This record gives sequence, structure tokens and C-alpha cells, in this order.
Amino acid sequence: MSYMAQRVAGFGTTIFTEMTALANEHQAINLGQGFPDFAAPDFMKDAAIAAIEADINQYAPANGRPRLRQAIAQKVQDFYAVEANPDTEITVLHGATEAIFATILGLVNPGDEVIVFEPFYDSYVPAIQMAGGIPRFYTLRPPNWQIDAGELAMLFNNKTKLIIVNTPHNPTGKVFTEIELGLIANLCQQHDVLAMTDEVYEHLVFDEQQHQTLISLPGMAARTIMISSLGKTFSVTGWKIGWTVAPPELTHAIFRAHQFMTFCGAAPLQEAAVTAVSQPPSFYHELTEFYTSKRNFLLDALKSVGLRPIAPHGTYFIMVDISHLGFANDVAFCRYLTSKIGVAAIPPSAFYHNPTDGAGLARFAFCKEEKTLAAAANRLQRLKTG
Ligand code: PMP
Ligand code: GLN
Repeated sequence: MSYMAQRVAGFGTTIFTEMTALANEHQAINLGQGFPDFAAPDFMKDAAIAAIEADINQYAPANGRPRLRQAIAQKVQDFYAVEANPDTEITVLHGATEAIFATILGLVNPGDEVIVFEPFYDSYVPAIQMAGGIPRFYTLRPPNWQIDAGELAMLFNNKTKLIIVNTPHNPTGKVFTEIELGLIANLCQQHDVLAMTDEVYEHLVFDEQQHQTLISLPGMAARTIMISSLGKTFSVTGWKIGWTVAPPELTHAIFRAHQFMTFCGAAPLQEAAVTAVSQPPSFYHELTEFYTSKRNFLLDALKSVGLRPIAPHGTYFIMVDISHLGFANDVAFCRYLTSKIGVAAIPPSAFYHNPTDGAGLARFAFCKEEKTLAAAANRLQRLKTG
């Protein structure tokens, strides 16, 4: 008999852990798991050191250090004209991952349905299942990943409790349009459904695109939980500082779950996070330029070896159509690429409830130093000669 509880027995190991292990085994360049391989900004490191030296080393208040909640309130006001009370509407959690889990555990009852766009970020479905909820999927199709109003409306019914909207979207790079968000907002209000928005890539948006946030649409402030975190914007995925912005009643429910999962995240890093979320607009402009050139470099490198990348509007990922290459599926391709070509990518079938929907795709991360991307481009040339 297995000791493992049924609630986790079906989960397996995350695809990120699996592909990073395979990349390490073959000394492949890891364009799989999305983490920067370059240094964090000095202002982040200095702020963290200063916080520890100032002996901010004991528990933070469970809903987050007040200065950080205040800075987050200012940031959402400055960027999105969202009014949030730092005491009743903002909670600091252990990364967006805990924010997602606490939101779902705090708001979803057994039997409730939760609408999820697929391909999905891998923690949504396990969180829904551990809460006893039922995921209902809307499949985004390449190359445009757009939403059909009628098809989406069909997923809403009187059991629907929540819809999860991840924009900019991992892994497709889709940035939801104002029209699409308007459609979601109308459906939520018609059916009395809550929305959880995962906006961890809010500042990684390219070209003429603009990140729009659902919480600022008419009628949505009362029913939206907006989630973001430091990891992507400030190149510190290991810091795990995330937050929710939600009306008091929803914040209360999230807090109930959060207080017994972690109580609070790392206090000195919360203090350092104040410096991060208080950065001036120039920081974000530079970030966009920095990532635009990395995206363009990898797009060109992929195209030059006969791959078919789908240019992302946001995030630091590129989805590639591999369906013409003759591999059995995405897992076979990514294993071959990692072990024989020396470049790791993520097989997106892990992000679909029906894995065959991702069988013709592969996801590459470009949050890497120029020299890492150049070395990967070099190795990818081997694809041409077989
Ligand atoms: N949501 C998405 C879409 C992500 O890509 C990630 C990245 N890991 C997360 C949430 C988790 O963020 P964090 O590292 O802040 O927990
Ligand atoms: N968000 C990262 C990605 O999509 C990885 C997250 C993780 O490793 N859990 O690649």
C-alpha cells in the first residue's frame, strides 16, 4: 500500500523539474525552465543585504510588511489607476504560486467549476483539484491563440465559481486584448463568477502591445483577484515574493488559507521588495528593450534552422511549431533536442488536459544572457544537418 495521499498521487513531477534534470544530465543549454541566468539588479541585492543588516529577520505580519503593501498599492495606482487599500485589499504571499493556491483554496468549494485557458501554467489544475474543484478548459489554438466569444460563453454555467486569466500568457506569449477582457468581464458579471488574474509577466510586453488588467474594467473590481510577483520583472525567481489585490471580502478568504500555509514569506526580502516595486518608469522601459532584443535574437536563431516560431507579444517564452519535423510528439522532440542537440526546451503537452493538443509544439525561454542564447543558436545549427 502506498503512503501517498490520493490528493497528490496523480500529480507526477513538474515538467520544469524533469527537463532541468535532463538538461543537467546532458549538459544542455537550458532554454526550458523559465529562470534568468544573469545577475539580479544591484539595487535588489543591496536592498536585501541592507534589510538583513537592519535585522529585519523576524516574522512579517501575515498579510505582509506594511511598507510593501503600501508600495504595491502605489504601483497598481500608477500603472493601472487601480485603487487598493493596503490594509484590507492587499496580501503578500510566498510568490505568485502561493497566491494562486491560497486564492483557490480560499474561494473554491468542492464541486465548483473553474474555467482555465489551456495551455495553462502548471500549478492551476493541481490547486483546483486539491480544493475539490472541477477544471473546465478553453483551448487556445495557434498561431493566434484568440478567443471565440460563443465557445467561451458555453463554459459558463451555474456551477462556475472562478475563471483564471493569465495575461501575458505563459506559455503562448499571448497578451489578452481589451475586447477579450471585456468579453470575460461581461460573462463574469452575467453569471456571478469571480476572476483570478495571473499577471506575473505584466512588464514583459513587446512591440505595440499593452498589458491590460481585468480588475480595472467596469464592474470587475468587486470580483477580481489580481496576482503578480517580483520574480520575472526583477530577475529574482528564487525570492518568491508575490501578492494579491482583491476586494476585502475576497482578501479575507485568501488570508484564511494563507495564514495556515506559510503565515508569511521571508521578511527581509519583503523589505527589499519595497525598493523593487518603487522603481521609476525608466526601469520598465529598459526592461522592455532588454527583452525585446533577446526575443528577436532567439526568433531569428530558431527560424534560421527551419523551426517555425510563433512570435510572442509578451512573457519570456517562444512557442515553436514543430509539427512538420516528423517527431512522434513534443516530448520526443524535446528529449532529442536536449540529449542530442544540447539545447533543452519544454514540451507543452504538460500544459494541456489532453496532451495531444500540445504534441506539435515546443517552448523555448529567452531570459538568458546573450552568450547563452548565442551558444544555443550555435548548437541549434546541428538540427539542419540532422
Ligand atoms: N504564474 C505563471 C504564469 C508563471 O509563469 C509563474 C512562474 N513560475 C508563476 C505563476 C509563479 O510565480 P512565482 O515564482 O512568483 O511563484
Ligand atoms: N514559471 C517557470 C516556467 O514556466 C517555471 C516555474 C517552476 O519551475 N515552477 O518555466
